[in-house]
Amino acid sequence: MANIWYIQVNRFCNNQCHFCSNTSNWNNITFERWLELIDDFISRKYSWIIFTWWEPTLSPDLPKWIDYAKQKNINCRIISNGMMCSNIDYIKTLKTAWLSLIHFSLYSYILEIHDFLTDTPWSYKKLLKAIQNALKLWIRVQLNCVINKYNQNHLDKTTKFIVNNFPDIKHFVWNNLDPQMMRQTEIALSTLPDFDIAWKNLVRTMTFLESTWRTFRVERLPICFMRGFERASTETRKIVKHEERIVHFLDSRNTFQELEWEHERAIECEKCDLKSICAGIYEKKAYYNYVKVISQKLSKEEKEKIISKIKMDE
Ligand code: SF4
Repeated sequence: MANIWYIQVNRFCNNQCHFCSNTSNWNNITFERWLELIDDFISRKYSWIIFTWWEPTLSPDLPKWIDYAKQKNINCRIISNGMMCSNIDYIKTLKTAWLSLIHFSLYSYILEIHDFLTDTPWSYKKLLKAIQNALKLWIRVQLNCVINKYNQNHLDKTTKFIVNNFPDIKHFVWNNLDPQMMRQTEIALSTLPDFDIAWKNLVRTMTFLESTWRTFRVERLPICFMRGFERASTETRKIVKHEERIVHFLDSRNTFQELEWEHERAIECEKCDLKSICAGIYEKKAYYNYVKVISQKLSKEEKEKIISKIKMDE
């Protein structure tokens, strides 16, 4: 079981992604609060801490926290936009603190699209430099990507670009866009994906990655859009393995424990044989009301096969 604790360490960023799901409030976690959280983490026996949103590398205490966590034998990783890590002297401070894993967020292999989505010139070039720096220092890198209208038709090309240029990257994560908390501007709302286009491209991409023995996960995508790869759904995995997750927010939500993974349902879900292991449709009523899910028919054995594959995975 991989129970994960996400800790927001600050709420400001040096990119301005249109679809960012955590608006800036300029809060920072204090060093004392951080120590309290670590003690709580140890008592709960969680597997990983992830330092995240907005941009953890903008917190001057980050190397100190990573170092402290390592001393306590806690696995930790960061999710980053790569802006700070494009500076080799900065990323060396993370390496010295024994950071072993970074998730970098790349939205497209096309410079103009990535820079448009981050609303930050040079973010693409800096991100590629950051990946180079991390790999040079033997820090493991994994790739995160938010599926959206502007990249949904070339997820496969973006993935192949990374595999060709950075063959040491072995794990990919796609998150379906979370519109609930993002800016409600015209541009932000224009990023909502078309599932009918995205799923075909995503299934092609997963087929390719599987052929290269790489691994991947997909979040917030109903599993009727990823048949054959249901085991890669983060929610399905959590349902099957009874995993939980804690998120420490730097706003009124404070510390929030998630034990249930079910989103909303469509009428089609009622007769679907995958229902008990599918989370349904995230934010269906408010945003994804245009999504047409398809009820699935499969035998008991087929479903058991999906479940046992998930149980066998780490
Ligand atoms: S339960 Fe609903 S969303 Fe899930 S696979 Fe079935 S039809 Fe799709």
